[in-house]
Amino acid sequence: MKAIALLTMVLMFAGISLSQTKDNITDLNEKVIPINTLERNALKPINENCPVENLKVNEDVTFVIFNNVLIGFCCEGCDEVFLKNPKNFKDKLKGKDV
Ligand SMILES: [Zn+2]
Repeated sequence: MKAIALLTMVLMFAGISLSQTKDNITDLNEKVIPINTLERNALKPINENCPVENLKVNEDVTFVIFNNVLIGFCCEGCDEVFLKNPKNFKDKLKGKDV
């Protein structure tokens, strides 16, 4: 009987860690943006300066596609700020066909 109880506990733990993995995947999925063939040919951001902090774009930082254009940021964090409310930064990208 003890073995069965232990097995049940192991299975429960496995279930917990499985659901945690799922959560992580969901979090990652929120950041995934599909890139069509057109955009794949031009993986350079349209902006030279970060729309959030106005510093030079760092190409190592995650790019974001907004209204079908690729936007770069100066540092990690600016991409998240931008994603929370892209409309706030739309003016900063004016003249870039956004
Ligand atoms: Zn920044």
